[in-house]
Amino acid sequence: MIKRPEEIALMAESGRLLAQVFAWLDRQSLAGMSTMQVNDMVDRYIVEDLQARPASKGQYGYAYALNASRNQVVCHGVPSNSDILQSGDIVNLDITLEKNGYIADSSKTYLVGEVSPAARKLVKTTYEAMWKGIRAVRPGARLGDVGHAIERHARKHGYSIVREYCGHGIGREMHEAPQVLHWGRPRTGLVLREGMAFTIEPMLNQGRHAVRTEDDGWTVVTVDGQLSAQFEHTVAVTRSGVKVLTLRPGETVPA
Ligand code: MN
Repeated sequence: MIKRPEEIALMAESGRLLAQVFAWLDRQSLAGMSTMQVNDMVDRYIVEDLQARPASKGQYGYAYALNASRNQVVCHGVPSNSDILQSGDIVNLDITLEKNGYIADSSKTYLVGEVSPAARKLVKTTYEAMWKGIRAVRPGARLGDVGHAIERHARKHGYSIVREYCGHGIGREMHEAPQVLHWGRPRTGLVLREGMAFTIEPMLNQGRHAVRTEDDGWTVVTVDGQLSAQFEHTVAVTRSGVKVLTLRPGETVPA
């Protein structure tokens, strides 16, 4: 579970490239595009412009470079020609990138066109909740501290947290130990140590936390049909705190 500095450096390079994918996506106009078009352009950008590999392709039999999870879709939305992004939608784009054998994993919920204040507030709070978790990471802290910080922020704003999916260790494999729950009790769970690398990726629901998987075996939706949002970064525990390996250009760590 502990990675050598050379390994963390390679992961940071994968993270830097993945951050570039999101910076590039930020400049695209998503309204009117199908999620398959978004997938195809991201795939091309990773392979041709960044000389890297979309790590999700071929993993668990998945065929695409990203997951596109729109509105009531919680996660694992599969790109489709018939899923057209429209003004008012929120859509999470979850992307993994491998370079030199090491994987980085990050996601962002985009606002498409004009989005309702309620949806914007969910997205903003989810982003803040991810950062509350990241800021709890340091040597000697415990995973329960991370989960608690996220859960507390979500509850404060009246949102629920999805229970079935969590963050995860990452490195040569997309999913490694430990599991990183987005709720928990302070001073419980695994003690963090320098050289650990994992994702923090809370999913917050407007309504109830319950989710179900659709018949395609992938797409996870809220049972009550209300909105869900998610953000994800890959982080490493450093000697004195945390390094966000997928930090995007212009993105700053909140105080
Ligand atoms: Mn992940």
